[in-house]
Amino acid sequence: MTMTAAKAGTDPSPRDPLRMFIGGEWTEARSGRTFDSIDPYTGQAWAQVPEASAADVDRAVSAARAAFDEGPWPQMAGVERARIMRRLARLLEENADELAAIEVRDNGKLLREMAGQAALLPEFYDYFAGAADKIGGEVLDSAKTNFFVYQLFEPVGVVGAITAWNSPLMLVAYKLAPALAAGCCFVLKPSEHTSVSALRFAEIVAEAGVPDGVFNVVTGDGPSVGEPLVSHPGVDKVAFTGSVATGIRVAKAAAEHLAPVSLELGGKSPNVVFADADIEAAANGVVAGIFAACGQTCVAGSRLLAERPIHDELVERVVGRAQEIILGNPMDLATEMGPLAFAAQWDKVMGYIDVGNGEGAELATGGCRPERFGDGLFVEPTVFVRVDNSMRIAREEIFGPVLSVIPFDGEAEALSIANDSPFGLAAGVWTRDVQRVHRMVPRLQAGTVWINAYRTINYDVPFGGYKMSGHGRENGLEGLREYLHTKSVWVEMSGATRDPFKLG
Ligand code: NDP
Repeated sequence: MTMTAAKAGTDPSPRDPLRMFIGGEWTEARSGRTFDSIDPYTGQAWAQVPEASAADVDRAVSAARAAFDEGPWPQMAGVERARIMRRLARLLEENADELAAIEVRDNGKLLREMAGQAALLPEFYDYFAGAADKIGGEVLDSAKTNFFVYQLFEPVGVVGAITAWNSPLMLVAYKLAPALAAGCCFVLKPSEHTSVSALRFAEIVAEAGVPDGVFNVVTGDGPSVGEPLVSHPGVDKVAFTGSVATGIRVAKAAAEHLAPVSLELGGKSPNVVFADADIEAAANGVVAGIFAACGQTCVAGSRLLAERPIHDELVERVVGRAQEIILGNPMDLATEMGPLAFAAQWDKVMGYIDVGNGEGAELATGGCRPERFGDGLFVEPTVFVRVDNSMRIAREEIFGPVLSVIPFDGEAEALSIANDSPFGLAAGVWTRDVQRVHRMVPRLQAGTVWINAYRTINYDVPFGGYKMSGHGRENGLEGLREYLHTKSVWVEMSGATRDPFKLG
């Protein structure tokens, strides 16, 4: 064990510098260097993490490659892989409190949020364990009747996975659970801001009995570790969660060796409230959409589209609730918003507040760093009204607690504003009119649409983006297909010979 992390309710800080997990062994970076993981609430370093380089990435990919080409995992009966995955799920249950506490120290998100996510992790592994022994193949009823034709679904091979810092182990589960079920091997590079939970998770994976080399973790920053990973010719598939700019870089690097890529990227999701909606429920959903997790969520409902007849009342309710939000220590269960995850993130969010003010939007509440936290990374819940959809605060992902309110008249204008965005990750619609719901849903350009709800995600429901929000799907059985090749098999049945110069 590399980590001596205390159990729930106590300090989860590791006592010694951490090590990476490669080929079933705990190892330092080749360079011997480490970097500090900073707790965004205290501003203090709380763990030392190995600073890997391309040489370490190469070791990890080679370990995964060997495990895939020669090891038992892809050959193992699905039912046996499922058994190991269920053991992993049970161990995750036992260690959920500790994992949640580590993630709070890493990224400053609320314990109540991260405890919920940690409690959900085992369900991802249970769900995909249920699929591991049902992958098999399919006999095709081909029109080529002189052939017996079937298709096999086979693991794609070695997966290189790169994740963002906002929901660290959940973003890993989106990728790893289906990849394990499919029989793939895996190299993870977590965000440099949230490496500690990935390393503790690796201990649990090993304890569950996942064979050596099937799951590997390399830690470090994007350019020095992420880029060599996605560029590595030994990686057969890249699974990425992060920003659009990095996603494009990753896709280009993977294209050099034609590895398929799934991209879960950012959003600027509209939360559309019609005049006939339950205003109280809608206001609650708007708050959940933008202030939960300090708005540091890919599906943040950062554009509130409010129909004019209820615009003022809705804004009043949302602003009122925003002003009551309890800011403080993320470990405190009463806290509703903690600090942002790191200093550059705070600078970016405050920069966008300046942009909004400069563009002529009206600040209805917030916009400042609350004085009582000194130079802590806090931002007041912020609402801009009189926003035009052409403004930067309506077009660009802020990834912070900043809401842009845009008025509209009628369904056609709502759709036009909602879809007028480079992104297409999610959308919310609040109305009591069932016919309107079914008119809106097919026209909204978004991978997820919530009706009278917001920010609900589950392991059994496909998730992913339209447009610049990415491609590929995670979760549900569609998420499993990302990790499978299809092999078509033709067995000649008649014994006849054929014209060799004609396509058969
Ligand atoms: P980034 O794009 O900055 O980073 C994402 C990951 O990519 C990190 O692990 C980062 O490493 C790594 N990375 C950075 N540069 C490179 C590179 N050149 N090659 C390979 N990897 C690299 O995003 P953030 O971490 O800031 O995450 C926030 C973004 O993620 C938001 O846009 C958000 O919407 C999106 N997101 C999308 C989700 C979805 O499912 N659609 C879910 C959650 C977040 P490091 O940080 O260590 O440098």
